[in-house]
Amino acid sequence: MPITKVWLEEKDCISCEACESGCPEVFVIQDGECKIKPEASDPAYLAKYSDKIKEVAEACPVECIKFTEA
Ligand code: SF4
Repeated sequence: MPITKVWLEEKDCISCEACESGCPEVFVIQDGECKIKPEASDPAYLAKYSDKIKEVAEACPVECIKFTEA
């Protein structure tokens, strides 16, 4: 299932950088905080990285990466 939306529960994020390492197309650490890249607000863009997003969401140590699937 393609991912259509991804977001972070930022208050829980510990800026470990694992998601940026695993899927730099979507996640970026900026000024010590993890952010979703602007282009990742486009479902067509996100769909290309669905498998990687699911992997990093599972690997996130505090489970703060959330997403919806089509
Ligand atoms: S893997 Fe999770 S805790 Fe680590 S930077 Fe990404 S969102 Fe934050």
